[in-house]
Amino acid sequence: MTKAVYPGSFDPVTNGHLEIIRKAAALFDHVVVLVAVNAAKNCTFNAKERVQMLRDCTADIPNVTVDSSDGLVAHYAEHMQACAIVKGLRAMSDFDAEFQQALVNRRLNPHVETVFIPADSDNMFLSSGVVKQVCALHGDISAFVPPQALPQIIARLKAKS
Ligand code: ADP
Repeated sequence: MTKAVYPGSFDPVTNGHLEIIRKAAALFDHVVVLVAVNAAKNCTFNAKERVQMLRDCTADIPNVTVDSSDGLVAHYAEHMQACAIVKGLRAMSDFDAEFQQALVNRRLNPHVETVFIPADSDNMFLSSGVVKQVCALHGDISAFVPPQALPQIIARLKAKS
């Protein structure tokens, strides 16, 4: 059985993330979407909320589960006996940092390989940060985030702005 871990902040989940999750789910027997908790990051949604939004959005994909961790992704992957860490690539600008991270993860866990999945051209521009900026300025984000998470995202971001 092939298992992959797809880590990220997902603060909040976007259609770009969901596209990578669906593609990974077609490639691996089991995909764990991992909300990587970093206390140094000032996130808009807490880990529990991010996990729940991801669960709601992936409920129709049977081989996807969602978890959170505040440890190293490489160690989590080892613990889960995953063979791959999946990362989405939007542009060459993502590549440098992701490549460095992949090499570090290989040192930390030689049993895991990082697999890059290129973003769809429709989602190349999309990030959680863009969603937050547009919503804070009262723009329509319904084309950027999955419908299951939309009401919660709007409620939180409008309250903040
Ligand atoms: P971001 O705030 O940039 O969305 P995340 O940490 O939540 O950052 O991203 C998690 C993973 O998803 C990373 O591998 C990132 O490259 C990938 N990703 C983020 N947005 C997209 C997108 N629009 N298309 C493809 N992959 C994406």
